[in-house]
Amino acid sequence: MDILSMNITELEQLMKDIGQPTYRAVQIFEWLHQRFPAAADGVFSFNEMNNLPKNLRNELTSRCYITPANIVERLTAKDGTIKSLIRLGEVHIETVLMEYAHGRSICISTQAGCRMGCIFCATGQSGLIRNLTASEMCQQVYLAGGVRNIVLMGCGEPLDNFDATIRFVELITHPKGVGIGQRHITLSTCGLVPKMRELASRRLQINLAVSLHGTDDATRQALMPIARRYSIKELMAACREYTEITHRRITFEYALTSGVNDSPAQARALAALLKGMLCHVNLIPVNPVEGQSLSPTKRREAMAFAEILQKAGIPATVRRTIGAEVNAACGQLRAKKGV
Ligand code: SAH
Ligand code: SF4
Repeated sequence: MDILSMNITELEQLMKDIGQPTYRAVQIFEWLHQRFPAAADGVFSFNEMNNLPKNLRNELTSRCYITPANIVERLTAKDGTIKSLIRLGEVHIETVLMEYAHGRSICISTQAGCRMGCIFCATGQSGLIRNLTASEMCQQVYLAGGVRNIVLMGCGEPLDNFDATIRFVELITHPKGVGIGQRHITLSTCGLVPKMRELASRRLQINLAVSLHGTDDATRQALMPIARRYSIKELMAACREYTEITHRRITFEYALTSGVNDSPAQARALAALLKGMLCHVNLIPVNPVEGQSLSPTKRREAMAFAEILQKAGIPATVRRTIGAEVNAACGQLRAKKGV
């Protein structure tokens, strides 16, 4: 296993296996997660770990590895959003970094590609290339530096890579590492119902975002193949269970698409569906992707849609398309670079 993916218990076992005192495990964990170096070529050298004796550094060099990661290209939008194309081993993914008054937020990827095939999504068009490891998720955060909030909303479906994603949450929130608060992490899912239940049972304090995009099964099915597997009724039951167990507010994401899911009647149906739930609705005018004729709802109509929700007591915001000119819709930069 990539050593950056290992938790302290696993590092302790590794120390035992190589005849080192177990307290070295914490030293290794602290160094790796707090001082992870962003080498230009992405190749990590255990020799730099100057808190360890030379013989242990040599032992680590011969036994262990960290998947090389480096930023291939960086684009900055007028609003300051930075989009990075990152190489992880043999694949490429993207991150989006946003600067706020309360600190930096990063949107990271959990898979290279995605097998869910949502028709409005650039990532979905390529299918799944492979799952990312917890190490690769951590490195996306460490390459940015100074991050306070993390959203798992880049390429991929986090709950389709469940174990590595949970492992990542445990590593990145660990007090011996960077110690990011669980409440500062948001996981976005297209609605894998059994995995949402499993996530709830872990009793983490992370926020859940659910990609809804439709208020009836037919509309949702036309946009998202996963909606054929789980009905809106089943999805909403899993959402309610999540808020009951965690007491965390769910964010519903809704990509407003002209003539598909943006009528006033659909806004009223959405309000009825979410009535009484601890939630918030994020309305995002759909980002056009190549090969699809979906067009975004105009700003005025989007505001009217939001108003119907608000009047019904459902908190809703129209998200400005952050970093639109750097193609913040995941997969577009990668597609342009042909990698
Ligand atoms: N797989 C997860 C997380 C990654 S996608 C999920 O689907 O929730 C992150 C968000 O971007 C999702 O809400 C997704 O529906 C949305 N999205 C994808 N492509 C989009 C586009 N072209 N326009 C607007 N939102 C899009
Ligand atoms: Fe996958 Fe999310 Fe894109 Fe759907 S929207 S294809 S689940 S990344």
